[in-house]
Amino acid sequence: MIYFEQSVESMPRKALESLQIEKLRSVLKEIYGRNRFYTCKLDAAGFRPESIRTMDDLAHLPITTKSELVQAQKDAPPFGTNATFSEVVYSRFHQTSGTTGTPLRVLDTPESWDWWGRCWGHVLAGAGLTENDRLFVPFSFGPFIGFWAAVEGARQIKALMIPGGGRDSLQRLHFMKELGATVMCCTPTYALRLAEVAQESGFDLSEIPLQKLIHAGEPGANVPATKARIESAWKAKCYDHAGASEVGAHSFECEIQPDGTHVIESEFIVEVLCPKTLKPVSVGEQGELVITNLGRIGFPVIRYRSGDLVRLNPEPCECGRTFPRFEGGVLGRADDMVVVRGVNVFPSAIENLVRRCNAVEEFRITVSTKREMGHLAIELELNKSAHPETARSTVNQAIRNELGLRADITVVSYGSLPRFEMKAKRFHVDN
Ligand SMILES: [Zn+2]
Repeated sequence: MIYFEQSVESMPRKALESLQIEKLRSVLKEIYGRNRFYTCKLDAAGFRPESIRTMDDLAHLPITTKSELVQAQKDAPPFGTNATFSEVVYSRFHQTSGTTGTPLRVLDTPESWDWWGRCWGHVLAGAGLTENDRLFVPFSFGPFIGFWAAVEGARQIKALMIPGGGRDSLQRLHFMKELGATVMCCTPTYALRLAEVAQESGFDLSEIPLQKLIHAGEPGANVPATKARIESAWKAKCYDHAGASEVGAHSFECEIQPDGTHVIESEFIVEVLCPKTLKPVSVGEQGELVITNLGRIGFPVIRYRSGDLVRLNPEPCECGRTFPRFEGGVLGRADDMVVVRGVNVFPSAIENLVRRCNAVEEFRITVSTKREMGHLAIELELNKSAHPETARSTVNQAIRNELGLRADITVVSYGSLPRFEMKAKRFHVDN
């Protein structure tokens, strides 16, 4: 088994908890009095850094929301008040994609960038990568942090990083073949898109010695039917990971793949709270991930409401790590859930059912809430040899059996739905 930092990853739970508390105290001491955003919040809550002694004291710290961070940036543009140091100390700028609202700008110091790399070191080593690997990153580098951080992680584990920007999909496939790429880091959507391009152009994917795919940027690697489809197209293993620009890369899948992602507890403290009461749910129950990062002093988040729904499983894993795991990865976003005819539906649940039908190449889901009851419409794009009526009825049946819903399913012509290289947008709510 490959580890990034074995002594920490297999630490007894008690020792790990002490390490977390020690790191949190040190974060609070560093930011208190310097970071305007958090000093105000701590003062308002009457909390002093030295008040943290045990994990139970965590509940007395104030919660942070994304809208507060966005507001702090509007109040003091361009970078906001969640800054522990003067601007000159920061060396990296990134921002969130803005798919769920105003983009949030984030800054890192050389130290916190090293921390990002360490977190990604866990992601890459967790999937078994070593200095013998050649990691292909088919991405044109913009301000989105995800793949930049992957590159920093590759540097830390000494793998060969191959940047794949500035060329089209077919050129990328040839590039990977020529250079002998063993791993690719991309969105699940783009892994499927490349496989589609290979098929359209008669390119044989088995000529690339690819063994693993590491996914970032969007969910999908934890949607069973999507994962199965990627693994079958590439004859390679898929690894899921989760993170966010304002938080860090916080969880990863190990080589055992116990249907869940390990939390990097040496760098984060996670809580799973009921989204309504903000009280902890029972162990194993679904709740909202509230997370504190322990290594990003310049731009910290403390008890941050991620909006992600997770279920924590503390059972030991065969890989030897004592880090608990999110059962099934990030299950969905609290604000993504829609109600159709009284049924709570997550986009990932529909994606899983649609992708199970092999004939489907691409799809688009629209939930219209204009009518009081809600209405679910699905457009399917099929592969050229598929029989439209059979595919339509297969998907229809699956949605009805598994979700108890009637969907309006139409088959659209091949190539008419958008294709994505980065975050895909297949789910639309029509208000
Ligand atoms: Zn494991």
